[in-house]
Amino acid sequence: MNESTLHIIITGETGNGRTLMMKKKHLRNLILSTFLTAVLLFVGTITGLHNRKRNIVLQEKIASLSQTLQDKTVGKQKRLVAQVGQLEESLAQAKKALAENRREKLSIIDRYETQVSQLEQERTELFEGSISRLDKRSKIIKTMMDKIGVNIEVQDDPGHSGGLYIDPDVRLSDQLLDKTDQYLSLIQKLPLGRPINTKISSRYGRRIDPLNSKKAFHAGIDFKGRTGDKVRATGNAVVRLSSYSKGLGNHIILNHGNGYESLYAHLSKRLVKSGDKVVRGQNIGLVGNTGRSTGSHLHYEVHYRTKTVDPMKFMQVAKLISSK
Ligand SMILES: [Zn+2]
Repeated sequence: MNESTLHIIITGETGNGRTLMMKKKHLRNLILSTFLTAVLLFVGTITGLHNRKRNIVLQEKIASLSQTLQDKTVGKQKRLVAQVGQLEESLAQAKKALAENRREKLSIIDRYETQVSQLEQERTELFEGSISRLDKRSKIIKTMMDKIGVNIEVQDDPGHSGGLYIDPDVRLSDQLLDKTDQYLSLIQKLPLGRPINTKISSRYGRRIDPLNSKKAFHAGIDFKGRTGDKVRATGNAVVRLSSYSKGLGNHIILNHGNGYESLYAHLSKRLVKSGDKVVRGQNIGLVGNTGRSTGSHLHYEVHYRTKTVDPMKFMQVAKLISSK
Protein backbone atom coordinates (compact mmCIF):
# COMPACT_ATOMS: atom_id res chain seq x y z
CA MET A 1 0.00 0.00 0.00
CA ASN A 2 1.07 3.51 -1.04
CA GLU A 3 1.46 5.93 1.75
CA SER A 4 0.10 8.74 -0.38
CA THR A 5 -3.25 6.95 -0.53
CA LEU A 6 -5.81 7.29 2.19
CA HIS A 7 -8.63 4.88 2.99
CA ILE A 8 -11.69 6.41 4.27
CA ILE A 9 -14.09 3.92 5.83
CA ILE A 10 -17.68 4.90 6.30
CA THR A 11 -19.82 2.55 8.44
CA GLY A 12 -23.52 2.48 8.97
CA GLU A 13 -25.58 1.18 11.98
CA THR A 14 -25.68 -2.23 10.47
CA GLY A 15 -22.00 -2.43 10.37
CA ASN A 16 -21.72 -2.51 6.64
CA GLY A 17 -18.92 -0.20 5.76
CA ARG A 18 -17.77 1.29 2.63
CA THR A 19 -14.25 2.14 1.92
CA LEU A 20 -13.24 5.05 -0.17
CA MET A 21 -9.79 5.32 -1.42
CA MET A 22 -8.35 8.64 -2.07
CA LYS A 23 -4.93 9.92 -2.61
CA LYS A 24 -3.76 12.44 0.02
CA LYS A 25 -2.94 14.94 -2.69
CA HIS A 26 -6.51 14.79 -3.97
CA LEU A 27 -7.94 15.19 -0.50
CA ARG A 28 -5.74 18.16 0.13
CA ASN A 29 -6.81 19.68 -3.15
CA LEU A 30 -10.43 18.98 -2.31
CA ILE A 31 -10.17 20.61 1.11
CA LEU A 32 -8.25 23.55 -0.37
CA SER A 33 -10.76 24.09 -3.13
CA THR A 34 -13.67 23.86 -0.68
CA PHE A 35 -12.02 26.39 1.52
CA LEU A 36 -11.32 28.66 -1.44
CA THR A 37 -14.90 28.33 -2.60
CA ALA A 38 -16.14 29.25 0.88
CA VAL A 39 -13.81 32.23 0.98
CA LEU A 40 -14.94 33.33 -2.49
CA LEU A 41 -18.57 32.95 -1.50
CA PHE A 42 -18.02 35.00 1.63
CA VAL A 43 -16.15 37.75 -0.20
CA GLY A 44 -18.77 37.75 -2.93
CA THR A 45 -21.58 38.06 -0.44
CA ILE A 46 -19.84 40.83 1.39
CA THR A 47 -19.14 42.68 -1.87
CA GLY A 48 -22.73 42.16 -2.98
CA LEU A 49 -24.08 43.56 0.24
CA HIS A 50 -21.73 46.43 0.05
CA ASN A 51 -22.71 47.20 -3.55
CA ARG A 52 -26.37 47.00 -2.68
CA LYS A 53 -25.88 49.52 0.07
CA ARG A 54 -23.99 51.78 -2.32
CA ASN A 55 -26.77 51.44 -4.88
CA ILE A 56 -29.32 52.51 -2.36
CA VAL A 57 -27.21 55.52 -1.39
CA LEU A 58 -26.75 56.42 -5.04
CA GLN A 59 -30.46 56.06 -5.74
CA GLU A 60 -31.23 58.28 -2.80
CA LYS A 61 -28.71 60.79 -4.04
CA ILE A 62 -30.24 60.67 -7.53
CA ALA A 63 -33.71 61.15 -6.08
CA SER A 64 -32.49 64.05 -3.99
CA LEU A 65 -30.71 65.62 -6.94
CA SER A 66 -33.69 65.23 -9.22
CA GLN A 67 -35.86 66.76 -6.50
CA THR A 68 -33.45 69.65 -6.17
CA LEU A 69 -33.37 69.99 -9.92
CA GLN A 70 -37.11 69.99 -10.09
CA ASP A 71 -37.33 72.53 -7.29
CA LYS A 72 -34.83 74.75 -9.02
CA THR A 73 -36.61 74.48 -12.36
CA VAL A 74 -39.95 75.26 -10.80
CA GLY A 75 -38.43 78.23 -8.97
CA LYS A 76 -36.87 79.50 -12.13
CA GLN A 77 -40.16 79.13 -14.01
CA LYS A 78 -41.98 81.00 -11.29
CA ARG A 79 -39.45 83.79 -11.36
CA LEU A 80 -39.70 83.97 -15.15
CA VAL A 81 -43.48 84.12 -15.00
CA ALA A 82 -43.24 86.85 -12.40
CA GLN A 83 -40.78 88.77 -14.56
CA VAL A 84 -43.00 88.42 -17.63
CA GLY A 85 -45.89 89.68 -15.50
CA GLN A 86 -43.91 92.71 -14.43
CA LEU A 87 -42.85 93.42 -17.98
CA GLU A 88 -46.43 93.21 -19.18
CA GLU A 89 -47.48 95.62 -16.44
CA SER A 90 -44.71 98.02 -17.38
CA LEU A 91 -45.76 97.81 -21.00
CA ALA A 92 -49.35 98.53 -20.12
CA GLN A 93 -48.27 101.56 -18.05
CA ALA A 94 -46.07 102.81 -20.89
CA LYS A 95 -48.99 102.45 -23.30
CA LYS A 96 -51.23 104.32 -20.91
CA ALA A 97 -48.64 107.09 -20.49
CA LEU A 98 -48.27 107.29 -24.25
CA ALA A 99 -52.00 107.59 -24.73
CA GLU A 100 -52.16 110.32 -22.08
CA ASN A 101 -49.24 112.09 -23.68
CA ARG A 102 -51.01 111.97 -27.02
CA ARG A 103 -54.21 113.28 -25.48
CA GLU A 104 -52.24 116.08 -23.84
CA LYS A 105 -50.57 116.93 -27.14
CA LEU A 106 -53.91 117.03 -28.88
CA SER A 107 -55.24 119.21 -26.12
CA ILE A 108 -52.27 121.58 -26.45
CA ILE A 109 -52.74 121.74 -30.21
CA ASP A 110 -56.41 122.39 -29.66
CA ARG A 111 -55.68 125.22 -27.21
CA TYR A 112 -53.06 126.65 -29.55
CA GLU A 113 -55.45 126.59 -32.47
CA THR A 114 -58.10 128.29 -30.37
CA GLN A 115 -55.63 131.01 -29.39
CA VAL A 116 -54.54 131.51 -32.98
CA SER A 117 -58.13 131.70 -34.05
CA GLN A 118 -58.87 134.25 -31.31
CA LEU A 119 -55.84 136.32 -32.31
CA GLU A 120 -56.92 136.22 -35.92
CA GLN A 121 -60.38 137.29 -34.90
CA GLU A 122 -58.93 140.18 -32.87
CA ARG A 123 -56.65 141.12 -35.72
CA THR A 124 -59.55 141.12 -38.14
CA GLU A 125 -61.61 143.25 -35.76
CA LEU A 126 -58.73 145.68 -35.28
CA PHE A 127 -58.17 145.78 -38.99
CA GLU A 128 -61.82 146.40 -39.69
CA GLY A 129 -61.82 149.07 -36.99
CA SER A 130 -58.80 150.78 -38.52
CA ILE A 131 -60.28 150.65 -41.99
CA SER A 132 -63.54 151.97 -40.66
CA ARG A 133 -61.80 154.87 -38.85
CA LEU A 134 -59.69 155.59 -41.89
CA ASP A 135 -62.73 155.68 -44.09
CA LYS A 136 -64.54 157.87 -41.55
CA ARG A 137 -61.67 160.35 -41.50
CA SER A 138 -61.53 160.43 -45.26
CA LYS A 139 -65.22 161.25 -45.25
CA ILE A 140 -64.75 163.99 -42.62
CA ILE A 141 -62.02 165.55 -44.74
CA LYS A 142 -64.20 165.32 -47.80
CA THR A 143 -67.16 166.89 -45.97
CA MET A 144 -64.99 169.75 -44.71
CA MET A 145 -63.58 170.33 -48.14
CA ASP A 146 -67.06 170.21 -49.63
CA LYS A 147 -68.22 172.85 -47.10
CA ILE A 148 -65.60 175.35 -48.19
CA GLY A 149 -66.17 174.48 -51.84
CA VAL A 150 -62.86 172.73 -52.31
CA ASN A 151 -63.11 170.20 -55.06
CA ILE A 152 -61.42 167.00 -54.04
CA GLU A 153 -60.52 164.83 -56.97
CA VAL A 154 -59.80 161.60 -55.21
CA GLN A 155 -61.01 158.52 -57.01
CA ASP A 156 -63.33 156.18 -55.17
CA ASP A 157 -63.01 152.50 -55.81
CA PRO A 158 -65.84 151.72 -58.23
CA GLY A 159 -65.94 148.11 -57.00
CA HIS A 160 -66.82 149.27 -53.50
CA SER A 161 -69.17 152.15 -54.16
CA GLY A 162 -72.47 152.38 -52.37
CA GLY A 163 -71.29 152.13 -48.79
CA LEU A 164 -68.17 150.89 -47.16
CA TYR A 165 -67.41 147.27 -47.80
CA ILE A 166 -65.27 146.08 -44.93
CA ASP A 167 -63.06 143.18 -45.80
CA PRO A 168 -59.64 142.29 -44.38
CA ASP A 169 -58.33 142.55 -47.88
CA VAL A 170 -54.93 144.11 -48.41
CA ARG A 171 -55.91 145.57 -51.73
CA LEU A 172 -58.83 147.48 -50.25
CA SER A 173 -56.78 148.72 -47.31
CA ASP A 174 -54.07 149.82 -49.72
CA GLN A 175 -56.67 151.69 -51.72
CA LEU A 176 -57.97 153.39 -48.59
CA LEU A 177 -54.45 154.28 -47.48
CA ASP A 178 -53.76 155.57 -50.94
CA LYS A 179 -56.94 157.60 -50.80
CA THR A 180 -56.02 159.03 -47.41
CA ASP A 181 -52.51 159.77 -48.65
CA GLN A 182 -54.05 161.65 -51.55
CA TYR A 183 -56.20 163.65 -49.12
CA LEU A 184 -53.19 164.42 -46.95
CA SER A 185 -51.09 165.40 -49.95
CA LEU A 186 -53.91 167.63 -51.12
CA ILE A 187 -54.22 169.17 -47.67
CA GLN A 188 -50.47 169.78 -47.56
CA LYS A 189 -50.76 171.58 -50.88
CA LEU A 190 -53.93 173.57 -50.14
CA PRO A 191 -53.37 177.18 -49.03
CA LEU A 192 -54.69 176.63 -45.51
CA GLY A 193 -53.90 178.65 -42.42
CA ARG A 194 -52.52 182.13 -41.97
CA PRO A 195 -49.56 183.68 -43.79
CA ILE A 196 -48.80 185.79 -40.71
CA ASN A 197 -49.93 185.55 -37.11
CA THR A 198 -51.31 189.06 -36.70
CA LYS A 199 -54.75 190.65 -36.51
CA ILE A 200 -56.93 191.06 -39.57
CA SER A 201 -57.46 194.71 -40.53
CA SER A 202 -59.73 194.15 -43.54
CA ARG A 203 -61.84 191.19 -44.64
CA TYR A 204 -62.77 189.73 -48.01
CA GLY A 205 -65.76 191.27 -49.77
CA ARG A 206 -67.42 194.62 -50.42
CA ARG A 207 -66.00 197.62 -48.61
CA ILE A 208 -65.20 201.28 -48.96
CA ASP A 209 -61.83 201.74 -50.61
CA PRO A 210 -59.41 203.21 -48.06
CA LEU A 211 -57.69 205.32 -50.66
CA ASN A 212 -60.55 206.93 -52.63
CA SER A 213 -63.45 206.17 -50.23
CA LYS A 214 -65.48 204.63 -53.08
CA LYS A 215 -67.38 201.34 -52.93
CA ALA A 216 -65.07 198.54 -53.93
CA PHE A 217 -64.60 194.80 -53.72
CA HIS A 218 -61.74 193.60 -51.53
CA ALA A 219 -60.47 190.39 -53.13
CA GLY A 220 -58.40 189.32 -50.16
CA ILE A 221 -57.66 189.74 -46.47
CA ASP A 222 -55.40 192.41 -44.99
CA PHE A 223 -53.23 191.49 -42.01
CA LYS A 224 -51.70 194.09 -39.76
CA GLY A 225 -47.91 193.98 -39.74
CA ARG A 226 -44.73 195.91 -39.40
CA THR A 227 -42.23 196.18 -42.21
CA GLY A 228 -39.88 193.24 -41.98
CA ASP A 229 -42.34 190.80 -40.36
CA LYS A 230 -42.04 187.33 -41.86
CA VAL A 231 -44.62 186.18 -44.41
CA ARG A 232 -45.10 182.45 -44.70
CA ALA A 233 -46.40 180.18 -47.48
CA THR A 234 -49.81 178.76 -46.49
CA GLY A 235 -49.26 175.46 -48.35
CA ASN A 236 -46.74 173.46 -50.39
CA ALA A 237 -46.42 175.04 -53.80
CA VAL A 238 -44.31 176.14 -56.69
CA VAL A 239 -43.63 179.89 -57.04
CA ARG A 240 -45.49 180.95 -60.19
CA LEU A 241 -44.58 184.63 -59.92
CA SER A 242 -42.24 186.76 -57.85
CA SER A 243 -42.55 190.27 -59.21
CA TYR A 244 -43.34 193.95 -58.72
CA SER A 245 -46.38 195.87 -60.02
CA LYS A 246 -47.78 199.31 -59.45
CA GLY A 247 -50.87 198.14 -57.64
CA LEU A 248 -49.58 195.07 -55.70
CA GLY A 249 -46.02 196.29 -55.20
CA ASN A 250 -43.65 193.41 -54.45
CA HIS A 251 -45.85 190.32 -54.69
CA ILE A 252 -45.58 186.57 -54.89
CA ILE A 253 -48.05 184.11 -56.41
CA LEU A 254 -47.81 180.46 -55.35
CA ASN A 255 -49.30 177.65 -57.42
CA HIS A 256 -50.62 174.87 -55.11
CA GLY A 257 -51.94 172.61 -57.87
CA ASN A 258 -55.51 171.38 -58.33
CA GLY A 259 -56.44 174.90 -59.48
CA TYR A 260 -55.41 176.68 -56.26
CA GLU A 261 -53.14 179.70 -55.95
CA SER A 262 -52.28 182.15 -53.15
CA LEU A 263 -51.07 185.73 -53.46
CA TYR A 264 -48.97 187.82 -51.07
CA ALA A 265 -48.73 191.56 -51.81
CA HIS A 266 -47.15 194.91 -50.71
CA LEU A 267 -44.00 193.09 -49.54
CA SER A 268 -40.86 194.98 -48.62
CA LYS A 269 -38.80 192.01 -49.77
CA ARG A 270 -39.34 188.87 -51.83
CA LEU A 271 -37.27 185.85 -50.67
CA VAL A 272 -38.21 183.37 -53.47
CA LYS A 273 -38.13 183.48 -57.25
CA SER A 274 -40.30 181.98 -59.99
CA GLY A 275 -40.02 178.20 -60.21
CA ASP A 276 -38.88 177.74 -56.58
CA LYS A 277 -40.53 174.97 -54.60
CA VAL A 278 -41.82 176.06 -51.21
CA VAL A 279 -43.39 174.22 -48.28
CA ARG A 280 -46.07 175.30 -45.83
CA GLY A 281 -44.66 177.66 -43.18
CA GLN A 282 -41.65 178.64 -45.27
CA ASN A 283 -40.68 182.32 -45.06
CA ILE A 284 -41.16 183.64 -48.61
CA GLY A 285 -41.00 187.40 -48.02
CA LEU A 286 -41.25 190.31 -45.57
CA VAL A 287 -44.15 192.62 -44.78
CA GLY A 288 -43.91 196.04 -46.43
CA ASN A 289 -45.78 199.01 -47.86
CA THR A 290 -45.02 198.77 -51.57
CA GLY A 291 -47.59 199.46 -54.34
CA ARG A 292 -51.07 200.85 -53.71
CA SER A 293 -50.97 200.77 -49.93
CA THR A 294 -51.74 203.12 -47.06
CA GLY A 295 -49.29 201.53 -44.59
CA SER A 296 -47.36 198.41 -43.75
CA HIS A 297 -49.66 195.38 -44.04
CA LEU A 298 -49.97 192.08 -45.88
CA HIS A 299 -52.61 191.69 -48.54
CA TYR A 300 -53.39 187.97 -48.95
CA GLU A 301 -55.57 186.28 -51.57
CA VAL A 302 -56.63 182.73 -52.39
CA HIS A 303 -57.61 181.83 -55.95
CA TYR A 304 -59.45 178.79 -57.25
CA ARG A 305 -59.42 178.40 -61.03
CA THR A 306 -58.35 182.05 -61.48
CA LYS A 307 -61.24 183.40 -59.32
CA THR A 308 -60.73 184.80 -55.83
CA VAL A 309 -62.32 183.00 -52.88
CA ASP A 310 -62.63 184.02 -49.21
CA PRO A 311 -59.37 182.94 -47.52
CA MET A 312 -61.21 182.90 -44.17
CA LYS A 313 -62.83 179.52 -45.00
CA PHE A 314 -59.42 178.03 -45.62
CA MET A 315 -58.03 179.44 -42.39
CA GLN A 316 -60.98 177.97 -40.46
CA VAL A 317 -60.41 174.55 -42.02
CA ALA A 318 -56.75 174.78 -41.04
CA LYS A 319 -57.89 175.36 -37.44
CA LEU A 320 -60.16 172.30 -37.62
CA ILE A 321 -57.42 170.10 -39.01
CA SER A 322 -54.73 171.28 -36.60
CA SER A 323 -57.08 170.79 -33.62
CA LYS A 324 -57.83 167.17 -34.64
ZN1 LIG B 1 -55.91 194.23 -49.29
